[in-house]
Amino acid sequence: MKATSKTVRTVYFILKALAVLFVALLVFVLARPLWNRYVVYPQLEAERTALWRKYKKPAKQIPLKDYKGVLHSHTYRSHDSRGVLPEILPAAQQAKLNFIFLADHRISDQDTFPRGIHGTFEGIVIESGTESPGASMMVNPLKSTILDWTQDRNQLIRNVVKEGGMAFYLHSEDDHDWGNPDYQGMEIYNIHTDLIDEKNPLAFLFNGMVNSGAYRHWSYRELFNEQTKILALWDSLNSHRRIVGMAAVDAHNNQSIRARYLPDGQVEWVGSNSKTIAVNKPGWKEKLLLGKPDVAGWAFKMELDTYFHSFNFDNTHIFSDTLSSRALKNQLVNGHAYISFESLAEADGFQFFSTDATGSFNAMMGDSVPREKAVRLQAVSPFPVRFELFKDGKLIDSKDNTYTYSYATKGRKGNYRVVARLLLRKEWLPWVYTNPIYVY
Ligand SMILES: [Zn+2]
Repeated sequence: MKATSKTVRTVYFILKALAVLFVALLVFVLARPLWNRYVVYPQLEAERTALWRKYKKPAKQIPLKDYKGVLHSHTYRSHDSRGVLPEILPAAQQAKLNFIFLADHRISDQDTFPRGIHGTFEGIVIESGTESPGASMMVNPLKSTILDWTQDRNQLIRNVVKEGGMAFYLHSEDDHDWGNPDYQGMEIYNIHTDLIDEKNPLAFLFNGMVNSGAYRHWSYRELFNEQTKILALWDSLNSHRRIVGMAAVDAHNNQSIRARYLPDGQVEWVGSNSKTIAVNKPGWKEKLLLGKPDVAGWAFKMELDTYFHSFNFDNTHIFSDTLSSRALKNQLVNGHAYISFESLAEADGFQFFSTDATGSFNAMMGDSVPREKAVRLQAVSPFPVRFELFKDGKLIDSKDNTYTYSYATKGRKGNYRVVARLLLRKEWLPWVYTNPIYVY
């Protein structure tokens, strides 16, 4: 009798301890996401609304239109994405994109172009392209052709560029032949690159699940870290020749749990990286969870990286007279572009240019200009920002809380680029990175 009651007491004590431990763990795991939900994100939201009210359209100096889009995005043509046009297009419209340059994973050694989703859809230019494995790059030949990936990589880049196509290095954290003379540019930001450096991916995931509603854009931004190493590499490469910097979304829309009805009435469950988890006859679980299929056929979805949130995260703006993949590519490889983080604020109107002794515009980002002509470097922003001027990779000047910026070069040659930062919750967040003006 005594022994039994002692056992009961011990079991009761262990259960109580476990319960306390469980609650403590729950509080520990949930504290940060809840703090974000009820304190940090409402504050960010209010400050962003206040910032957006300060919008002032800058006068046009660069005589070309600003087209906003994304580079390096994936579709169902990639093994790890199921993205189809009826999902991509509304997301692109919501994010106000003018163009998408795709980089679908290579499926075969003989790679045909154009293919998959390619053309102009409701005013949005979509160009097909490939992301090659290994030392990854994005290749967009921009014409009807077949690429043979068994040939020498450097030879392939040379041919694509010579034939009027585009070749950019992706995933700048990886090894590349940086001395290759033919590639035209590189990623200076990629959401995936930024995600894999998270020290606590589980905390990021958990926060994303708790804050997946109205604050998803803020929980998504928790992955952001300034890519100082990659920016330094970019600056050093630019001391040899022009290497264009671009922003990549690497959007797959594949960090999710989804389900759809198959033609034979069975249900396919799809998990992370668009892998099939199970195919089964609909049971109680399906009856409970599945609803009416959406435009892409998904009858259930719980997702983190929607196309919209990726398309609205970081963008590349290209200055061009025409909205076509050919015109955009020609301007981009000349560096007539800047990158921005649009969930903070829309950057349309931002410009960085040089003026001569009379104050007239004579060159824009990406251009080379003789030092006697680049008398002043100027930047204008639709929102008050901190302007930072970098010369050959070194911060040489900055100015806070202003819409306009001007700097006298005094005839000093170098590569000048601008970073603009927005003030949110007492932090100057990087918002715009321009390509350099090359003063020689
Ligand atoms: Zn990719």
